[in-house]
Amino acid sequence: MQPSEMNEKVINEILGSVIQTLVNQLKGENAPASCGRALSGETIPVELSARHVHLSEADAMELFGHPLTPKRDLSQPGQFLAEERVRLIGPKGVMDNVAVLGPSRNATQVEISKTEARALGVNPPVRMSGDVKGTPGIILASQSGIVGLEEGVIVAARHIHMSPEDASRLHVTDNERVSVHIDSERPVTLEDVVVRVSDQFKLSMHIDPDEGNGMGWNSKATGRIVARQ
Ligand SMILES: [Zn+2]
Repeated sequence: MQPSEMNEKVINEILGSVIQTLVNQLKGENAPASCGRALSGETIPVELSARHVHLSEADAMELFGHPLTPKRDLSQPGQFLAEERVRLIGPKGVMDNVAVLGPSRNATQVEISKTEARALGVNPPVRMSGDVKGTPGIILASQSGIVGLEEGVIVAARHIHMSPEDASRLHVTDNERVSVHIDSERPVTLEDVVVRVSDQFKLSMHIDPDEGNGMGWNSKATGRIVARQ
């Protein structure tokens, strides 16, 4: 074999393997995910959900003597920030001026970060909103009333609100857990993100302040579902 022929052979072999690798990569990208359907790659707005309280009607009456007064609408349809604010009193600390979100719910629920929980001296688990059984209690106070909550303090599990149309476009279902890559100042991939589907919901991912600070969140941060769990 002449040197030039040898070169040609080697070049062809290398080219062949490069092309094969590319073909495999392309096939991989287009291949169905483990679920049997491809993920969409669509970006999702990421909102930071700061500490807040949901009140039952009875607890709102106890604290303020009247139902909640809407101050401004939140991004999720029908939800509002109330004029009223509460003080949280824990075994180790007090937190003033905590936001109250409406409308009233069946059970009062306090959503704080792990850092805030430490300052208050409570140790709440990570839970989905509404799942408060066996969680710690806390004292809620206003200028004129006080409520001793036996349970209801949680660290909200990160989640994505979406409509049924969003869910079908993103190839996910209600209560499914997914991994989401966040494009932010300090990009991360978050696992165990709960999908919540309702025709009342607008597409948005909610994280808490600890997660937000950890990833260098700002209001332009977006997420992409990268895996189903
Ligand atoms: Zn939410």
